[in-house]
Amino acid sequence: MTDPKPSVLVVEDEAPMRKFVHVSLEAQGYRVLDAETGKQGLELAAAHVPDLVLLDLGLPDMDGLEFAKRLREWGSMPIVILSARSDEEQKVRALDEGADDYLTKPFGAGELMARIRVALRHGARARDGAGSLARIGDEIEIDLVKRLVHVRGEEVHLTPIEYKLLVILVKHAGMVVTHRHLLEQVWGPGHAHQMQYLRVYMTQLRRKLEKNPARPKYLTTEPGVGYRLRTEAD
Ligand code: CA
Repeated sequence: MTDPKPSVLVVEDEAPMRKFVHVSLEAQGYRVLDAETGKQGLELAAAHVPDLVLLDLGLPDMDGLEFAKRLREWGSMPIVILSARSDEEQKVRALDEGADDYLTKPFGAGELMARIRVALRHGARARDGAGSLARIGDEIEIDLVKRLVHVRGEEVHLTPIEYKLLVILVKHAGMVVTHRHLLEQVWGPGHAHQMQYLRVYMTQLRRKLEKNPARPKYLTTEPGVGYRLRTEAD
């Protein structure tokens, strides 16, 4: 009765990293495909349509940004970037281009599995529909049909912008959402750099939703990248 485990394509040119990821995933029962170059990765992706792609940003034949763009021309599976600290700027651009999340090297097997689980859940929600009720931890409930938000049992009034912002984060629950994405979705394409708007509204949202807004449990900051709505303890 068990469903076949999801398949993951690993696109990474460094053999030790590729092996570590491969072995870790296989130990959890995932089906794993390996590629050493971007070209090989794109071919394997097209041939097997994996449930998720793990993508190194520094590939020998094309950069991860190019890879993400080309995959997104036809594929909607989650892309999780494997990035070095020095790739910071490229990482943000790849996330803006349609990658869904990232892991910073070095990372442990536990962190890798948690990221993959969240991204696969996101992929499944995007495919099958998310349902009309979103729950964040056991404290926040969002009725997406009635547009009602309850926090610890009490109805909370959000302004239209606060609500829009929250819904985008809910749609990407567990994963990072870049500043640019939030600004463009909420305020429009001309506002991609108006970070101060975002900061102001995020502060307000935290005040309304978080028990301790100064140390948010759910609406967390990803420095230099964006925000992440944490929904559970992974
Ligand atoms: Ca590399």
